[in-house]
Amino acid sequence: MTYFARATSLGLETTPAEVAWEECVCPLCGSPKYAPLVEAPDRTPGSSGLWFMVVQCQSCSLCYTNPRPSKDGMAQFYRNEYPPHQPCAKKPKAIRWWRRLPFWLHGAEHYRKALPPLGQLRLLDFGCGAGAFLARMLSQGWRVTGIDANETAVDNVRERLGVNAFVGSLPHPLLDDGSFDVVTMWQALEHTHEPLRVLRGAWKLLAPGGLLIVTVPNIDSLAFRLFGSVWNGLDLPRHLVHFAPGTLRLMLHSAGFRPSRVRMVRRGGWLRASARLAQRCLPGMHGWRRWLQGKVFSSIASWYAACTRQADCLLATATKP
Ligand SMILES: [Zn+2]
Repeated sequence: MTYFARATSLGLETTPAEVAWEECVCPLCGSPKYAPLVEAPDRTPGSSGLWFMVVQCQSCSLCYTNPRPSKDGMAQFYRNEYPPHQPCAKKPKAIRWWRRLPFWLHGAEHYRKALPPLGQLRLLDFGCGAGAFLARMLSQGWRVTGIDANETAVDNVRERLGVNAFVGSLPHPLLDDGSFDVVTMWQALEHTHEPLRVLRGAWKLLAPGGLLIVTVPNIDSLAFRLFGSVWNGLDLPRHLVHFAPGTLRLMLHSAGFRPSRVRMVRRGGWLRASARLAQRCLPGMHGWRRWLQGKVFSSIASWYAACTRQADCLLATATKP
Protein backbone atom coordinates (compact mmCIF):
# COMPACT_ATOMS: atom_id res chain seq x y z
CA MET A 1 0.00 0.00 0.00
CA THR A 2 2.86 2.33 -0.65
CA TYR A 3 0.80 4.47 -3.01
CA PHE A 4 -1.03 6.06 -0.10
CA ALA A 5 2.02 8.08 0.74
CA ARG A 6 3.27 8.56 -2.82
CA ALA A 7 4.42 12.15 -3.09
CA THR A 8 3.13 14.02 -6.10
CA SER A 9 5.19 16.32 -8.24
CA LEU A 10 2.55 19.02 -8.05
CA GLY A 11 4.43 21.21 -5.61
CA LEU A 12 1.92 20.69 -2.84
CA GLU A 13 2.74 22.17 0.49
CA THR A 14 1.08 20.57 3.44
CA THR A 15 1.73 17.36 5.28
CA PRO A 16 -1.43 15.58 6.40
CA ALA A 17 -2.09 14.58 9.94
CA GLU A 18 -1.80 10.85 10.51
CA VAL A 19 -4.40 9.20 8.29
CA ALA A 20 -6.23 6.12 9.53
CA TRP A 21 -6.77 3.97 6.46
CA GLU A 22 -9.25 1.19 5.96
CA GLU A 23 -9.81 -1.36 3.25
CA CYS A 24 -13.44 -2.02 2.47
CA VAL A 25 -15.66 -4.46 0.63
CA CYS A 26 -18.12 -3.24 -2.00
CA PRO A 27 -20.49 -0.73 -0.34
CA LEU A 28 -23.36 -2.07 -2.46
CA CYS A 29 -23.13 -5.88 -2.64
CA GLY A 30 -20.46 -6.65 -0.03
CA SER A 31 -18.18 -8.51 -2.45
CA PRO A 32 -14.45 -8.32 -1.61
CA LYS A 33 -13.44 -8.82 -5.27
CA TYR A 34 -12.44 -5.73 -7.19
CA ALA A 35 -10.24 -4.55 -10.03
CA PRO A 36 -8.30 -1.25 -10.03
CA LEU A 37 -9.85 1.41 -12.24
CA VAL A 38 -7.93 4.66 -11.81
CA GLU A 39 -5.47 6.32 -9.44
CA ALA A 40 -5.33 10.03 -8.65
CA PRO A 41 -4.07 12.36 -5.93
CA ASP A 42 -6.02 14.81 -3.84
CA ARG A 43 -5.92 17.72 -6.28
CA THR A 44 -7.20 20.41 -3.94
CA PRO A 45 -4.73 23.32 -4.20
CA GLY A 46 -2.42 23.24 -1.18
CA SER A 47 -3.47 19.73 -0.14
CA SER A 48 -1.20 16.88 0.95
CA GLY A 49 -1.16 15.33 -2.52
CA LEU A 50 -1.76 11.81 -1.15
CA TRP A 51 -2.78 9.33 -3.84
CA PHE A 52 -5.94 7.25 -3.84
CA MET A 53 -7.29 4.41 -5.94
CA VAL A 54 -10.74 3.86 -7.37
CA VAL A 55 -11.65 0.21 -7.86
CA GLN A 56 -14.58 -1.52 -9.54
CA CYS A 57 -16.53 -4.34 -7.89
CA GLN A 58 -16.29 -7.54 -9.93
CA SER A 59 -19.75 -8.56 -8.84
CA CYS A 60 -22.05 -5.52 -9.18
CA SER A 61 -19.78 -3.03 -11.06
CA LEU A 62 -19.97 -0.30 -8.41
CA CYS A 63 -16.85 1.88 -8.38
CA TYR A 64 -15.51 2.99 -5.01
CA THR A 65 -12.41 4.48 -3.40
CA ASN A 66 -10.39 1.70 -1.78
CA PRO A 67 -8.49 1.83 0.52
CA ARG A 68 -9.93 4.99 1.97
CA PRO A 69 -9.50 7.22 5.04
CA SER A 70 -11.64 6.06 7.94
CA LYS A 71 -14.69 8.10 8.97
CA ASP A 72 -12.77 9.78 11.78
CA GLY A 73 -9.96 10.74 9.44
CA MET A 74 -12.07 12.41 6.74
CA ALA A 75 -12.37 15.86 8.33
CA GLN A 76 -8.79 16.79 7.40
CA PHE A 77 -9.67 16.44 3.70
CA TYR A 78 -12.39 19.11 3.95
CA ARG A 79 -10.52 22.37 4.25
CA ASN A 80 -12.05 25.41 5.92
CA GLU A 81 -12.61 26.99 2.51
CA TYR A 82 -14.42 23.92 1.05
CA PRO A 83 -16.92 25.73 -1.23
CA PRO A 84 -20.20 23.97 -0.30
CA HIS A 85 -19.59 24.89 3.36
CA GLN A 86 -19.22 28.62 2.64
CA PRO A 87 -22.26 30.80 3.40
CA CYS A 88 -23.84 32.00 0.17
CA ALA A 89 -24.12 35.79 0.09
CA LYS A 90 -26.45 35.79 -2.91
CA LYS A 91 -30.21 35.95 -2.51
CA PRO A 92 -32.19 33.11 -4.12
CA LYS A 93 -32.67 33.90 -7.80
CA ALA A 94 -36.07 34.74 -9.19
CA ILE A 95 -37.54 32.12 -11.49
CA ARG A 96 -36.77 33.27 -15.03
CA TRP A 97 -38.97 32.33 -17.97
CA TRP A 98 -36.43 29.97 -19.49
CA ARG A 99 -36.36 27.99 -16.26
CA ARG A 100 -39.90 26.91 -17.05
CA LEU A 101 -38.80 25.25 -20.29
CA PRO A 102 -38.73 21.43 -20.40
CA PHE A 103 -36.07 19.80 -18.26
CA TRP A 104 -33.91 18.63 -21.16
CA LEU A 105 -33.71 22.17 -22.57
CA HIS A 106 -31.93 23.77 -19.63
CA GLY A 107 -30.70 21.32 -17.00
CA ALA A 108 -29.49 23.96 -14.55
CA GLU A 109 -32.70 24.02 -12.57
CA HIS A 110 -33.11 20.26 -12.75
CA TYR A 111 -34.54 19.94 -9.29
CA ARG A 112 -37.68 21.88 -10.17
CA LYS A 113 -38.85 19.06 -12.41
CA ALA A 114 -38.02 16.47 -9.77
CA LEU A 115 -39.79 18.14 -6.86
CA PRO A 116 -43.54 17.91 -6.30
CA PRO A 117 -45.31 21.12 -7.38
CA LEU A 118 -46.78 21.75 -3.94
CA GLY A 119 -44.94 23.70 -1.28
CA GLN A 120 -45.64 23.38 2.44
CA LEU A 121 -44.18 19.90 2.45
CA ARG A 122 -41.61 18.66 4.95
CA LEU A 123 -38.17 18.49 3.37
CA LEU A 124 -34.85 17.15 4.66
CA ASP A 125 -31.70 18.13 2.76
CA PHE A 126 -28.94 15.59 3.46
CA GLY A 127 -25.50 17.19 3.02
CA CYS A 128 -27.03 20.65 3.24
CA GLY A 129 -23.66 22.45 3.46
CA ALA A 130 -24.18 26.15 4.11
CA GLY A 131 -27.89 25.86 3.27
CA ALA A 132 -28.22 27.50 -0.17
CA PHE A 133 -30.88 25.00 -1.26
CA LEU A 134 -32.68 25.15 2.11
CA ALA A 135 -32.87 28.96 1.83
CA ARG A 136 -34.42 28.67 -1.59
CA MET A 137 -37.07 26.16 -0.54
CA LEU A 138 -37.77 28.05 2.69
CA SER A 139 -38.54 31.16 0.64
CA GLN A 140 -41.11 29.10 -1.28
CA GLY A 141 -42.93 28.00 1.85
CA TRP A 142 -41.44 24.58 2.41
CA ARG A 143 -40.81 23.31 5.96
CA VAL A 144 -37.12 22.55 5.74
CA THR A 145 -34.54 20.71 7.85
CA GLY A 146 -30.86 20.22 7.10
CA ILE A 147 -28.24 17.67 8.05
CA ASP A 148 -24.51 17.80 7.36
CA ALA A 149 -21.34 16.27 8.75
CA ASN A 150 -19.71 19.71 9.07
CA GLU A 151 -20.47 21.43 12.36
CA THR A 152 -19.60 24.95 11.18
CA ALA A 153 -21.85 24.63 8.14
CA VAL A 154 -24.73 23.43 10.33
CA ASP A 155 -24.21 26.31 12.78
CA ASN A 156 -24.38 28.72 9.84
CA VAL A 157 -27.65 27.21 8.66
CA ARG A 158 -29.20 27.49 12.11
CA GLU A 159 -28.07 31.10 12.57
CA ARG A 160 -28.81 32.42 9.09
CA LEU A 161 -32.04 30.58 8.32
CA GLY A 162 -33.38 29.85 11.79
CA VAL A 163 -34.34 26.32 10.80
CA ASN A 164 -33.62 22.92 12.31
CA ALA A 165 -30.28 21.53 11.25
CA PHE A 166 -28.37 18.55 12.60
CA VAL A 167 -24.74 17.49 12.62
CA GLY A 168 -24.12 13.93 11.49
CA SER A 169 -25.36 11.39 8.99
CA LEU A 170 -28.33 9.08 8.51
CA PRO A 171 -29.81 7.37 10.37
CA HIS A 172 -29.87 10.15 12.99
CA PRO A 173 -31.24 9.62 16.53
CA LEU A 174 -32.97 13.03 16.67
CA LEU A 175 -35.02 12.55 13.48
CA ASP A 176 -38.30 10.67 13.71
CA ASP A 177 -39.38 7.92 11.34
CA GLY A 178 -41.96 8.96 8.77
CA SER A 179 -41.50 12.66 9.47
CA PHE A 180 -40.61 13.93 5.96
CA ASP A 181 -42.32 14.07 2.58
CA VAL A 182 -39.16 14.72 0.58
CA VAL A 183 -35.47 13.93 1.21
CA THR A 184 -32.88 15.48 -1.10
CA MET A 185 -29.21 14.57 -1.52
CA TRP A 186 -27.47 17.03 -3.87
CA GLN A 187 -23.96 15.72 -4.56
CA ALA A 188 -23.81 14.24 -1.07
CA LEU A 189 -24.30 10.46 -1.28
CA GLU A 190 -20.90 9.92 -2.93
CA HIS A 191 -19.24 11.44 0.16
CA THR A 192 -20.53 8.75 2.54
CA HIS A 193 -18.74 5.65 3.82
CA GLU A 194 -21.98 3.65 4.02
CA PRO A 195 -24.27 4.90 1.23
CA LEU A 196 -26.67 1.97 1.57
CA ARG A 197 -27.11 2.65 5.30
CA VAL A 198 -27.71 6.34 4.56
CA LEU A 199 -30.36 5.49 1.97
CA ARG A 200 -32.06 3.06 4.35
CA GLY A 201 -32.03 5.84 6.95
CA ALA A 202 -33.71 8.16 4.43
CA TRP A 203 -36.27 5.46 3.65
CA LYS A 204 -37.23 5.28 7.34
CA LEU A 205 -37.55 9.06 7.62
CA LEU A 206 -39.94 9.32 4.69
CA ALA A 207 -43.66 8.97 5.05
CA PRO A 208 -45.26 6.30 2.80
CA GLY A 209 -45.28 7.68 -0.75
CA GLY A 210 -42.43 10.05 0.14
CA LEU A 211 -39.92 11.13 -2.48
CA LEU A 212 -36.14 10.83 -2.53
CA ILE A 213 -34.06 12.93 -4.96
CA VAL A 214 -30.39 12.15 -5.45
CA THR A 215 -27.76 13.73 -7.68
CA VAL A 216 -24.26 12.28 -8.02
CA PRO A 217 -21.39 12.50 -10.51
CA ASN A 218 -21.50 9.85 -13.26
CA ILE A 219 -18.30 7.86 -13.72
CA ASP A 220 -19.78 6.25 -16.84
CA SER A 221 -19.54 9.62 -18.56
CA LEU A 222 -17.95 11.20 -21.59
CA ALA A 223 -16.05 13.50 -19.23
CA PHE A 224 -14.45 10.60 -17.33
CA ARG A 225 -13.52 8.92 -20.61
CA LEU A 226 -11.95 12.15 -21.86
CA PHE A 227 -10.16 13.22 -18.70
CA GLY A 228 -9.61 10.04 -16.63
CA SER A 229 -7.63 10.81 -13.48
CA VAL A 230 -8.14 14.57 -13.92
CA TRP A 231 -11.92 14.32 -14.25
CA ASN A 232 -13.45 16.91 -11.94
CA GLY A 233 -16.02 14.40 -10.64
CA LEU A 234 -13.43 12.11 -9.03
CA ASP A 235 -12.57 14.60 -6.26
CA LEU A 236 -10.54 12.09 -4.26
CA PRO A 237 -10.65 11.25 -1.41
CA ARG A 238 -13.87 13.19 -0.65
CA HIS A 239 -15.81 11.07 -3.14
CA LEU A 240 -15.84 7.55 -1.74
CA VAL A 241 -18.42 6.02 -4.09
CA HIS A 242 -18.48 6.64 -7.86
CA PHE A 243 -21.86 5.89 -9.35
CA ALA A 244 -23.03 5.03 -12.85
CA PRO A 245 -26.75 4.97 -13.79
CA GLY A 246 -27.05 1.20 -13.25
CA THR A 247 -25.31 1.10 -9.87
CA LEU A 248 -27.23 4.13 -8.57
CA ARG A 249 -30.51 2.51 -9.51
CA LEU A 250 -29.45 -0.80 -7.98
CA MET A 251 -28.48 0.86 -4.70
CA LEU A 252 -31.79 2.73 -4.46
CA HIS A 253 -33.61 -0.53 -5.07
CA SER A 254 -31.50 -2.35 -2.46
CA ALA A 255 -32.43 0.33 0.10
CA GLY A 256 -36.13 -0.41 -0.42
CA PHE A 257 -37.00 2.43 -2.80
CA ARG A 258 -38.90 2.22 -6.04
CA PRO A 259 -36.58 4.12 -8.37
CA SER A 260 -37.89 5.82 -11.47
CA ARG A 261 -35.66 6.73 -14.40
CA VAL A 262 -32.17 8.14 -13.86
CA ARG A 263 -31.90 11.47 -15.68
CA MET A 264 -28.84 12.96 -17.32
CA VAL A 265 -28.06 16.50 -16.16
CA ARG A 266 -26.05 18.77 -18.43
CA ARG A 267 -23.12 20.39 -16.65
CA GLY A 268 -21.07 22.50 -19.04
CA GLY A 269 -19.39 24.07 -16.00
CA TRP A 270 -18.13 20.67 -14.86
CA LEU A 271 -16.59 19.99 -18.27
CA ARG A 272 -14.85 23.37 -18.12
CA ALA A 273 -13.60 22.56 -14.61
CA SER A 274 -12.19 19.21 -15.81
CA ALA A 275 -10.47 20.92 -18.75
CA ARG A 276 -8.94 23.51 -16.42
CA LEU A 277 -7.80 20.78 -14.04
CA ALA A 278 -6.20 18.90 -16.94
CA GLN A 279 -4.41 22.06 -18.03
CA ARG A 280 -3.12 22.66 -14.51
CA CYS A 281 -2.12 19.11 -13.58
CA LEU A 282 -1.22 17.48 -16.89
CA PRO A 283 -0.21 20.29 -19.25
CA GLY A 284 0.26 19.15 -22.83
CA MET A 285 -1.52 15.85 -22.30
CA HIS A 286 -4.95 16.78 -23.49
CA GLY A 287 -4.39 18.62 -26.76
CA TRP A 288 -7.74 19.63 -28.25
CA ARG A 289 -9.49 18.89 -24.94
CA ARG A 290 -8.27 22.27 -23.70
CA TRP A 291 -10.96 23.78 -25.95
CA LEU A 292 -13.48 22.48 -23.41
CA GLN A 293 -12.40 25.32 -21.16
CA GLY A 294 -14.45 27.57 -23.43
CA LYS A 295 -18.15 28.06 -22.83
CA VAL A 296 -19.37 27.39 -26.38
CA PHE A 297 -17.45 24.17 -26.93
CA SER A 298 -18.21 22.83 -23.44
CA SER A 299 -21.92 23.60 -23.88
CA ILE A 300 -22.04 21.69 -27.17
CA ALA A 301 -20.12 18.78 -25.62
CA SER A 302 -22.41 18.67 -22.57
CA TRP A 303 -25.46 18.61 -24.87
CA TYR A 304 -23.96 15.75 -26.82
CA ALA A 305 -23.10 13.88 -23.59
CA ALA A 306 -26.63 14.29 -22.20
CA CYS A 307 -28.26 13.18 -25.47
CA THR A 308 -26.10 10.05 -25.59
CA ARG A 309 -26.68 9.27 -21.88
CA GLN A 310 -23.11 9.97 -20.81
CA ALA A 311 -23.51 13.27 -18.96
CA ASP A 312 -21.27 13.64 -15.93
CA CYS A 313 -24.13 14.35 -13.50
CA LEU A 314 -27.01 11.98 -12.69
CA LEU A 315 -30.34 12.78 -11.09
CA ALA A 316 -32.43 9.93 -9.70
CA THR A 317 -35.84 10.08 -8.11
CA ALA A 318 -37.28 7.26 -6.05
CA THR A 319 -40.36 6.76 -3.93
CA LYS A 320 -41.01 4.89 -0.72
CA PRO A 321 -43.76 2.41 -1.58
ZN1 LIG B 1 -20.46 -4.90 -5.57
